Amino acid sequence: MNYTSTRSILAASSAKAIASGIAPDGGLYTPTEIPALTLEDLVAMQSLSYSELAADVLARFMTDFTKEELLEYARLAYDSGRFLRPGTDSREAVGLRELHDGEHLLELYFGPTSAFKDMALQIMPRLLTASLKKLGEERGVCILVATSGDTGKAALEGFRDVEGTRIGVYFPDGGVSEIQRMQMETQEGSNVRVWAVQGNFDDCQTGVKNIFASADANAEIGANGIMLSSANSINWGRLAPQIVYYIWSYLELCKRGDISMGQQVNVCVPTGNFGNILAAYIARRMGMPFSKLICASNANNVLTDFIKTGVYDRRRTFYRTLSPSMDILISSNVERLLYYLTDGDTAYVAEKMQELKETGTYTLTGKALEELQSVFLSGCCDDEMTADTIRDVWEENHCLIDTHTAVAVRVLRDILPEYETIIASTASAYKFSDGVLAALTGDHADGFDAIDRLQHHTGSAVPAPLDSLRGRAVRFDTVIEKDRMESAAVDFCRSFDL
Ligand SMILES: *Cc1c(COP(=O)(O)O)cnc(C)c1O
Repeated sequence: MNYTSTRSILAASSAKAIASGIAPDGGLYTPTEIPALTLEDLVAMQSLSYSELAADVLARFMTDFTKEELLEYARLAYDSGRFLRPGTDSREAVGLRELHDGEHLLELYFGPTSAFKDMALQIMPRLLTASLKKLGEERGVCILVATSGDTGKAALEGFRDVEGTRIGVYFPDGGVSEIQRMQMETQEGSNVRVWAVQGNFDDCQTGVKNIFASADANAEIGANGIMLSSANSINWGRLAPQIVYYIWSYLELCKRGDISMGQQVNVCVPTGNFGNILAAYIARRMGMPFSKLICASNANNVLTDFIKTGVYDRRRTFYRTLSPSMDILISSNVERLLYYLTDGDTAYVAEKMQELKETGTYTLTGKALEELQSVFLSGCCDDEMTADTIRDVWEENHCLIDTHTAVAVRVLRDILPEYETIIASTASAYKFSDGVLAALTGDHADGFDAIDRLQHHTGSAVPAPLDSLRGRAVRFDTVIEKDRMESAAVDFCRSFDL
């Protein structure tokens, strides 16, 4: 299988795409063809375990890996006890829970950081180090990550003490939840570094992209025998593992008799950087019987407008919301969507991305817009509606959902109720305890105080990875200005030998 940049035609293997993270022209590596899945394939897949399914799906995209290699990585990621459903001894990596008629929550947050990012970031370090080996790369790799809260911690956990790698994470100072901050500040491992940046997530993301593009930074870091790469969803190695759980959830609905094989279902995803919903789109293009993909946003509703009108316009107020992992105005993976919507017109994608960079806006028209609107529906909801939904869902069936999942549930109920829909449930409610507690009780508290009160109020189990943060020493408390991001990375790559 061949990969290209979204901005110009070039030929790369999956190993090359994963090792590099971002393409040399600033575009995103993307497979030029999407492998097809037939109904017979799906029937055969019903007997596979999650790890076996992951190996099967990944093998279709990563033809320079053997299925045995991929199965080994999947088993190490998903079957080695790192996933645990709180309050039980179930070690299944994912779950599916019916909320209301037709509403199926795809529970993706049983991993070591209590958010869905673990689904990709537990396997991606293995894909990345194997890719480097396949390419004969002798340099070490430094992963730089911009995070709105969840990716950073998941990447730190995935890469900590992985030989030949080091990882640096930038998060917006004051822009993540108290728990998320504690998770990152207390990160263990000898190869990790964390910085709070005076700016928002878009500043962090742009800053990291600029470092990747900086000849100076690459030369200085390169002189230390280190290459840069990414663990954000601009890296194909992040996206591919996310396709698996959409297929899994569909098969699970069939097994449970909720739907018949081949029946169409919708998929609703709380969306920020457009990575998770893009994985659903790719699954759909493979042939999954997914009817509409519903893109749910919070008050930062740039994608809602884009899907409704074709106008992508980031020149708008940036809001800090109860769902901080979706507080994003520049959704990177829309770029991959454009590539597919235009049947691989890289010149067109490059032009639109240039317009976005220079003017803050671009407009999609013609066939690409038609295709976009035939597949996607969009909606948004504010913090008040998010809180109402958390309360509704708790009162309806004692299901505790986090603020991001609540956005998805609310948008779904507003625009397309009454169909079988898979809703991506992306984080443990305890990760956003302050917002969830306020929604349920009106009380305001922070950090462990919020966790304890939420636990007391609901009687539901606190995930072990969050509970165990109590009393951990802070290792990283550096706050830097945005224009110091590059020098921080350069210093980090100088500071110790691999
Ligand atoms: C990252 C994240 C999202 C958004 O996912 P994207 O792939 O960026 O669209 C939603 N919810 C939670 C809890 C997240 O951590």
